[in-house]
Amino acid sequence: MALFIAPDVAIDLGTSNTLVYVKGAGIEVNEPSVLLVDTSGKHTVKAIGDDAHALMGRTGDNSTVVNPLKDGVISDYEMTVNMIRSFLRRAIGSSYLVGPRISLTVSCNISSIERKAVNEAAQAAGARRNHVYLIEKPFVAALGSGLPVYEAVGSMIVDIGGGTVDIAVISLGGIVIHQSIRVGGNKMDEAIANYTKREFNIEIGLKTAEDIKLDLGAAVLLPEERVIRIRGRDVITSLPHDTKLTSRQVHEALHEPCLAILEAIKKVLEKTPPELSADIMRNGIYLSGGGAKLAGLDQFIADEIGIPVFLAKDPAEASILGQRYLIDNIEVMLLNNKQGLLTGI
Ligand code: ADP
Ligand code: MG
Repeated sequence: MALFIAPDVAIDLGTSNTLVYVKGAGIEVNEPSVLLVDTSGKHTVKAIGDDAHALMGRTGDNSTVVNPLKDGVISDYEMTVNMIRSFLRRAIGSSYLVGPRISLTVSCNISSIERKAVNEAAQAAGARRNHVYLIEKPFVAALGSGLPVYEAVGSMIVDIGGGTVDIAVISLGGIVIHQSIRVGGNKMDEAIANYTKREFNIEIGLKTAEDIKLDLGAAVLLPEERVIRIRGRDVITSLPHDTKLTSRQVHEALHEPCLAILEAIKKVLEKTPPELSADIMRNGIYLSGGGAKLAGLDQFIADEIGIPVFLAKDPAEASILGQRYLIDNIEVMLLNNKQGLLTGI
């Protein structure tokens, strides 16, 4: 039976993961932003999300795993539409005559053309016509981290995703200053893969590099050194080869991307008006996004800048939780937007 009007939906369309919140239901989808595509024929999609991610780096000649988003922007429009449509179907089904109103997060400094592409992709995937709302990611990440975004207080949020790090100072319901750099969790994985290639002549896949990061990656030296064995392909002989890798070496490999994040935070702080930076010094800097879970990253930043740093309660869910608040109060949100109080919609 066809139902009439679809419930409102919020989508956190990330480079690494996509989360879908359905008003009145909860977070219905939380899966990697990837598709498994058949490359032999008409590029048919064989799997989306978790199922496709499991096959990353393991596909044969006839299929490949695609990331439709890169560095926070759409790099493959058709595949993005495919993915959103599929996740929407999983979240709300497909029996509505009128599609859902949808809010989506976007990185701060994407161009108007890139914003338009996100808007159009959501409509092509089933959103109600002219009812797509784009919201700046750090704003909802701050809201979802419990920061007092609507008060006359300066709050700083650093959202560390797969492709981008979005840094923003927020006050009175708006973003005062922001900066987005293309150094997220993926760059950390690349740094580990580059390290093993440079130091041991061993080539490892990015998924293996990510697994190493999750297992023993840290922004500060761990009190106890750990050693693991890694397997890859010898660059010279092209044969499988293994070696041991220590947590100290992984720390060394991760230093550069961590430093890039630190420098970007410093730049934003330099540009922050004094009253707001006084608030930030008092209340601390908040980290959100999956990449914020890197061991010791909060401590590393706090030690280098001399300001307390806190991790959001559910770093990887902060943006969708912030969007939940907005979508649950969508009428107020739209009214506020008419008065120009809320940014980014
Ligand atoms: P996006 O919003 O860009 O899709 P996410 O916020 O989902 O990204 O974060 C994904 C990134 O977080 C990935 O690079 C992933 O490897 C990283 N990540 C997740 N958990 C951890 C962890 N425990 N330590 C370090 N990095 C992590
Ligand atoms: Mg995220």
